[in-house]
Amino acid sequence: MPERRITNCHVHSFTHRHVPVLYPHWAVWPFKKVPGLVRLVAFLCRPFFPVVAETLDRLHRFQEEAGAETQGELLEKVRRHYPSNTRFVVLPMDMEGIGHGPVRAGLAAQHDELAALAAREDLKGLVLPFATFNPARGQAGVDEVKRMVEGHGFRGLKIYPRLGFPPDHDLLMTQLYPFLQERGLPVMTHCSRGGVQGRGVVTAVADRYTAPEAYVPVMEAFPRLRICLAHFGGAADWRAYVEEGMAPGDAEARRRNWQVAIRDMIGSGKYPGLWTDISYTLFHFDDNLPFLKLFLEGTGDKAERLRRRVLFGSDYYMTRQERLSERAVCFRLRNALGEDLFWRIAQVNPEVWLGEREEEVAEVAGAGV
Ligand SMILES: [Zn+2]
Repeated sequence: MPERRITNCHVHSFTHRHVPVLYPHWAVWPFKKVPGLVRLVAFLCRPFFPVVAETLDRLHRFQEEAGAETQGELLEKVRRHYPSNTRFVVLPMDMEGIGHGPVRAGLAAQHDELAALAAREDLKGLVLPFATFNPARGQAGVDEVKRMVEGHGFRGLKIYPRLGFPPDHDLLMTQLYPFLQERGLPVMTHCSRGGVQGRGVVTAVADRYTAPEAYVPVMEAFPRLRICLAHFGGAADWRAYVEEGMAPGDAEARRRNWQVAIRDMIGSGKYPGLWTDISYTLFHFDDNLPFLKLFLEGTGDKAERLRRRVLFGSDYYMTRQERLSERAVCFRLRNALGEDLFWRIAQVNPEVWLGEREEEVAEVAGAGV
């Protein structure tokens, strides 16, 4: 039997040195500055406002991770939850120059530290580093991505349009997408209404840049580029899907709900380069897992296409704000999906997405292998 090996397609290891001092709001500065202040406030709140105390506990856990001094420390923490041969796609974040104050360590330093981590003898082959790009950096940003891919073997590109740019920005379309497609390297992009937003970027615009349909021109121009819309549309759209339902035949509503839109686009067979991952969203496990299982177990061409395009990822350490641990989610997922589906999304699909293995010939018309 071939070796079983999980690839977690979505984790983060950037630290407080890469996050602006005043992010997300100037008012959190004292909480960042004074260790233990969050715990003290949580303690004082507990008798009167247990829900607030619980939220503060989560914030504390999150701060503990974000307070790590090195990316290596964070990687060691997430590795505790997985088998020792598990691989991690590590996604950097460029929060310099988004209007929330300066960062202590710039993007090149963050990339270089990640490159050094991936090259460590004891982690050989286990860290799959991605480079990140914000068009606000102009040509220097393009060159920085090329430096990491060509010089350090980085395995793909991470973008975050909510910071304030469309995914079909000129520098991506004319330089980076052709560069990646030629090398068979994938793109990971944030696709959820939550998350970081550039200061002064209004939510309607951030949503327009983030929506699945914003990738149509990219996929039409680069049909062989593999693009993963992370978070499967995001927790808010999953909640809306579950709680509000949808009028039958309402095409506009299907487009507006990103979870449904992603399933429709993948299911259509028109966009063979379109992928999604379940990171973060599936940490709302009890609410969302039954639906995911149903989508993946469906019969027919649409369901088969979806089964081939969903990736396992967790979004560590963002998930430290949630109740369940990585290990708890991973085991529950495996238990609920069954062995075949679990290994499909945790091993086979990630290897195809990363360009390491050929997709098995699809028996599905238009699956576009
Ligand atoms: Zn993430």
